[in-house]
This record gives sequence, C-alpha cells and structure tokens, in this order.
Amino acid sequence: MSDETREFFVDQDLCTGCGDCIKAMPEHFEDTGEDTADVTASEGADASKLEKVMKECPGKAIKWK
Ligand code: SF4
Repeated sequence: MSDETREFFVDQDLCTGCGDCIKAMPEHFEDTGEDTADVTASEGADASKLEKVMKECPGKAIKWK
C-alpha cells in the first residue's frame, strides 16, 4: 500500500453544506462560511475513512484531483 495520499477537493457546486465531512474529518475539511465545505489539507488523510465520507456525502461533492 502506498503511503502517498491522493489529493481531493470539494466541488463547490455540488456541496450542500451539510457539514458531515467536517464532523467526520475536521483535520481535512472546514466550513467556507458560505454554506459549503472545503478541503484544508489532503495530506495524511485516512484512506478508508475518506472513502466512507466521500460515499456518504449527499452531494457526491468530494472528488479526487
Ligand atoms: S459531506 Fe459533502 S455535501 Fe456535506 S459539507 Fe461535506 S462536501 Fe458538502
């Protein structure tokens, strides 16, 4: 398994601002203050946790770069 983390981002047009990703991984997501979330840092993200957050994102807004 590679320890390199692929970079990911939030598609601002798809994000509903539910905040689930921020709750699940506060070290990687933050509130933009405009009813959306954004990625603060891709580095070191737990891959299985991230995949779960991606799958459960209601807007399917978290994507790989
Ligand atoms: S889980 Fe998805 S829809 Fe909810 S805030 Fe995060 S990116 Fe936006």
